[in-house]
Parts: sequence; structure tokens; C-alpha cells
Amino acid sequence: MARDYYGLLGVSKGASDQELKRAYRKLAREYHPDVNPDEEAQHKFKEISTAYEVLSDPEKRRIVDLGGDPLENGAAGNGFAGFGGLGDVFEAFFGGGTGSRGPVGRVRPGSDSLLRMRLDLAECATGVTKQVTVDTAILCDICQGKGTHGNSTPVTCDICGGRGEVQSVQRSLLGQVMTSRPCPQCRGVGEVIPDPCHRCGGDGRVRARRDISVKIPAGVGDGMRVRLAAQGEVGPGGGPAGDLYVEVHEQPHDIFVRDGDDLHCTVSVPMVDAALGTSVTVDAILDGLTEITIPAGTQPGSVTTLRGHGMPHLRSGVRGDLHAHIDVTVPTKLDARTKELLTEVKSRGQEEAAVRSAHAQTANSGGLFSRLRETFSGR
Ligand SMILES: [Zn+2]
Ligand SMILES: [Zn+2]
Repeated sequence: MARDYYGLLGVSKGASDQELKRAYRKLAREYHPDVNPDEEAQHKFKEISTAYEVLSDPEKRRIVDLGGDPLENGAAGNGFAGFGGLGDVFEAFFGGGTGSRGPVGRVRPGSDSLLRMRLDLAECATGVTKQVTVDTAILCDICQGKGTHGNSTPVTCDICGGRGEVQSVQRSLLGQVMTSRPCPQCRGVGEVIPDPCHRCGGDGRVRARRDISVKIPAGVGDGMRVRLAAQGEVGPGGGPAGDLYVEVHEQPHDIFVRDGDDLHCTVSVPMVDAALGTSVTVDAILDGLTEITIPAGTQPGSVTTLRGHGMPHLRSGVRGDLHAHIDVTVPTKLDARTKELLTEVKSRGQEEAAVRSAHAQTANSGGLFSRLRETFSGR
């Protein structure tokens, strides 16, 4: 059962924060280990400190006022699934199922919820605030979580007598075994609500859709989660809400492939421009039109890096790099004049075909980037 935190401090239910503080100070002076070293006083000091800690926290105090105990977690509820069938016998025999679990609290913490959000690369780079609609349990506004109608109150369950569990004797290969299971009437709570709230049926919470604003920081990446405290499901009996997690799903970009804070793109350079040198303009994320210089004699597969033109780091904001992987294109259709000119270039005899090691070729012809692309295609 829930502890009587008000009784421990000797204050009434409606006590103000000031009264709580005063009562605690007075008792603490009496029982503080420095003043009163005997064991009982130390125990008492611990109890009144706990009571003060609970009642001075508005959320915890709300649970106390609803008849719950914020320091009892809802873990006992997890046991429900395993009961029934042969499971009971073994659990009973090996000490799992019997014993005094005691009633589970009617007021229990709610669970977390997860929401997925699609973002494009630019949104990941700048950060974004988006309105989302979430569908979760919220506190019942009619009974404020109490679950009762009007001024009615819960009563002790007459099936289990408030213990929250019922015992039965089972015959098995191992002889007669006493097992206990959660009470079917009160579902382990130990009390029932004879006149439940008309809105929530006694659960203390209702489902609702609501719009909330989610702020995504700059630098997020695929799979990262943003936590919104206490925006998840309100618990049974109006228990404290879990958290809401928003998971980022980064949509693939037409041009850029992301690798952490670095970005990669491919730049196609005509053969003649690669030989003579040129510059190309890229529409960089966050920087707009940015010039990339292609020096004379640029080789296929070489990489030009623009420092600080990548994604901002999530925490530091320091930007990664933009890597332009150079692809040299060779004309496939030559008009007569071009063919004549190229033939003239050839006749000067500066370049000649040669057989080289395949290792060197891989390193020099975009092999690195094709590997990178493979790494990313799985996302
Ligand atoms: Zn209600
Ligand atoms: Zn019961």
C-alpha cells in the first residue's frame, strides 16, 4: 500500500509548501543523526526526508494525492503475462510466482512513445521546428486521474481482500503446489472503483490527438532521436507521462551523399577541361552557389575538398567538408573538325597508352567513391 507521506510529516493533505518546509525542518532538527545518533532516530530521519522529497515535488505529490506511491514503480505489472498453464507450477516451485508481490499501484508511470519524422538533407543541416500530431493517452480532465465519478471513492476488492492476488492449489507431477496470480477482478490493484468516471471508465486517462511543436537541432542524422520529456503516454490512474521520442528519417538527396558531417558529390568534367583546367559551380547545402576549381591536369577519380562546406556537427556546430569526386568524360561523337584537331594533338606524341597494375588503376579511377556509394546504399 502507499505510504502515508503526509502523516510522516504530521501535516494535512492540503498543506502549503511553506507548511511542508516548516514541518520538515522541525522534525529534521529533532531526528538529525548529528543530534540524535540512535538507530531509530536515523530511520525516522530517513523517512521524513523521503516524505519531504516526495511532497515537495509537484508531480510526485499529485500521485500521492491520487492514492498512489511515486516511489513504488509499476514493475509488478510485468509479471502478468507469464501466468497460467504449467508456468505457474514451475514458478511456484522455484520461487518465482508465489510470495508477497503485494498489490500493484493503481497509479503507474506511462510508457514512452516513438514518432518518425522525414527530413531532407537541408532540414538536417539547418535544424527545423515542425508541428506534429501525436496520439497518446492524456490525463482525464473530468476526474483528473482519480478514475472515480463525482465524489465516489475506490473500495477494497472483495475477491482478494486488497492483496491484489488470489491463491489457488494446483495438482501437478510435483505434488500439490500453491500458486498465486493477479486478482482477476481488480487486476492486481487491490481496490475497485464501483462508480467509475463516465469519461475514462476508471482508467484516469483518455486517448487524444494533439499538435505539438518539435524542435530538431541542426546537424541531426538518420536514425537519431530527439527526446521530448513527459510528452509520451500518461500512465494508468493518471500516472506521470513517459517521454516522446522523435526519430529522424533523412531522405536521400539528389546530389549529395552524407558520411557523418562530410558530404560527397561527383563532378563530371569534359576531357579537355580536365586537361586545361576550369571551374564548376555547385549548389552547396547551407552555402548556396559555390565554385569548385578544377586545376589543369586533373585526373579522373581525384577528389577536390572544400573544407568547412559540409554538415554542421550536432554538438559543436563545426562543419565537415564537401568532397567533389572528379569524373572525366570523353566525347563519344566527334565532328570532322574536332576529330582533325584531336588527331593533331595525337600526332604531337605526348601521350601513349600503356599497361599498368590494376591496383594503381583502382585507386585512381573512382574506386573509393564507388565503395562509399555501396556503404550508403543500404540506408
Ligand atoms: Zn476520468
Ligand atoms: Zn482484487
